[in-house]
Parts: sequence; C-alpha cells; structure tokens
Amino acid sequence: MKKRIIVCAFLVLIFLCITSTVSFAATSNIETINKEFIFDDNIEQIIKNKIEEDLLAEKVDAKLSILCLFGHKKESGTVSVITHRARPSAPRCLREVFQYEICTRCDYSKYDRMSFGYIFCCN
Ligand SMILES: [Zn+2]
Ligand SMILES: [Zn+2]
Repeated sequence: MKKRIIVCAFLVLIFLCITSTVSFAATSNIETINKEFIFDDNIEQIIKNKIEEDLLAEKVDAKLSILCLFGHKKESGTVSVITHRARPSAPRCLREVFQYEICTRCDYSKYDRMSFGYIFCCN
C-alpha cells in the first residue's frame, strides 16, 4: 500500500515537471519566434536591431544622454510587425504598422501604432 502511494506521488511530480516546462517553452516562443519585422530596404542594421529590441521587450524610458541635451539626432520611418499565430482562429496573424522615431546617439525611441489587422498567413 505504501509503495503505491509513493509511485503515485512520483507520477504527480513528473507530471508537474512536464507541465511547467511546456508552459515555459510556450511563453518564450511567443516573445521570440512569433514576431516578424518587415523594414524598408534602406534602414541601417543598427536601427533595425534597436526597433526589434524595443518592440520585443518591455520598453523602459531612456535616460536623457548628455549628447542630446540640445535635441536628439532622430531617424524616423515605418516598420511592419507580424505576430504569427496571434489568435486561435483564421485569420490568425496580426499585422501592425508602427511609425518610429529613434535617436542614433542615445536610447531615445518612440513608437506610434498607425494601423493593425489580422491577415491570412499561418494555418
Ligand atoms: Zn538622443
Ligand atoms: Zn503567420
């Protein structure tokens, strides 16, 4: 009898381990793999990286750099972001267009969502 209880407890433990790893994998998927960025051809790589970083992470307000006391050196444009499989039924993928404003000297950046809609893309 005692042995059976131990086996049960062991199974429950394994089950808990599996479910916790699965849910962890699912959340990290959403943050990294699911988003696709579509940039204009003439955007510098450093700006692309910054936009991806900003839009994937929780954006924190940048400290004002001494270099920018008299104004930022701004670059602006638009970027499309597709979040694949954003919802369970078709059309599943969310396409958003952001207007961005980025300073090339400091961490300043600003994003305005101009439009969004669901598109037929993934099944
Ligand atoms: Zn700046
Ligand atoms: Zn898709």
